[in-house]
Amino acid sequence: MDLYEHQARQLFEEYGILVPRAEVTDSPRRARVIARGLGGRVVVKAQVRTGGRGKAGGVRLAEDPAAAERTARQILGTDIKGHPVRAVMLAQPVDIESEFYVSYVLDRAAGRFLAIASAEGGTEIEEVAATRPEAVARIPVDPAEGVTSAKATEIVRAAGLPPRTADILIRLWQVLTGEDAVLVEVNPLVRTTRGQIMALDGKVTLDDNARFRQARRGEQEDPHTDPLEAAAAARGIDYVKLDGEVGVIGNGAGLVMATLDVVAGCGARPANFLDIGGGASARIMSDGLSVVLSDPDVRSVLVNVFGGITACDTVADGIVRALDTVRATKPLVVRLDGNNAARGRAVLGDRAHPLVHQATTMDEAARLAARLADTT
Ligand code: GDP
Ligand code: MN
Repeated sequence: MDLYEHQARQLFEEYGILVPRAEVTDSPRRARVIARGLGGRVVVKAQVRTGGRGKAGGVRLAEDPAAAERTARQILGTDIKGHPVRAVMLAQPVDIESEFYVSYVLDRAAGRFLAIASAEGGTEIEEVAATRPEAVARIPVDPAEGVTSAKATEIVRAAGLPPRTADILIRLWQVLTGEDAVLVEVNPLVRTTRGQIMALDGKVTLDDNARFRQARRGEQEDPHTDPLEAAAAARGIDYVKLDGEVGVIGNGAGLVMATLDVVAGCGARPANFLDIGGGASARIMSDGLSVVLSDPDVRSVLVNVFGGITACDTVADGIVRALDTVRATKPLVVRLDGNNAARGRAVLGDRAHPLVHQATTMDEAARLAARLADTT
């Protein structure tokens, strides 16, 4: 789960990292009041969970409270790279002397973290990394050792950062471990003209697997996530909404991803990713199907199950149950293979629902689902 800038800012503050004074609102009139409280001149920043807001017009200086209200009104309700702006953060402007880049990111393949740092931070960091990779230091961090003061000094030296940023690097590591994050990024970390080291922006990605031991996760959650994604999450189903028209359900992330590829190979576009998981019950299958069928973009559904721990007849029971409870108005192509496939096919055959088609191979099933999405 990605946090908004203002949430990241709050964490930084709690862990003793200097941040500008700031407040969030969704109301332009309130923006004026906040600006007055912050001294009049403010930076108005769109709160969206994507980077590059500055270049997209989502970070603007307002000279006085009236301008803050106008700017907030202009930014609220717009769209930044497909993300609707529902709130703005008003921040006290900072006079920047230099901008740095620092981040910790999980390197899954290596089983450790990577500290990435550069003395040339700011909005052009991607350009710097692409054209002059030597300007960006990459230092492995062993998660068991963490960022000690020796490690922080190593990062500071490798990146050519001011020595005083070492303390920030240690605190950022405390944010990462304390909050169970897999990414913490500050761009820019700045040295102000008054010599303070301050985090002017923040991106934090939390590890969803650590939900159970992080008391604050509920309140950090975005109330505006896709309603179907929220409904699926509440039922313990891995569901991601995509742009296309063929609903895809499978068991196991690998099989679902392969199914997405095969659907795309047939010239159709998957409408979602939905993994009912290994060992799924009939209820999970039926819940998953309800979620996919209630997506208005879905024009056909492809259920691709390879029975292992989950037996195919259980999956078929789930489909039948779903058909009895949700009014299916879209064609369903079901391919069952593996454990108890014959029994599963028989269950569906007996039900003989007019919208359910069975296929024996994944390719055949995907072709049929693509064709049905085209003609419904
Ligand atoms: P991003 O474009 O989404 O990464 O948004 P940032 O919060 O990083 O802002 C983009 C850029 O705006 C920063 O790199 C700064 O150069 C500039 N900026 C943001 N806040 C301030 C500020 O308080 N003072 C000054 N002078 N520049 C700022
Ligand atoms: Mn930034």
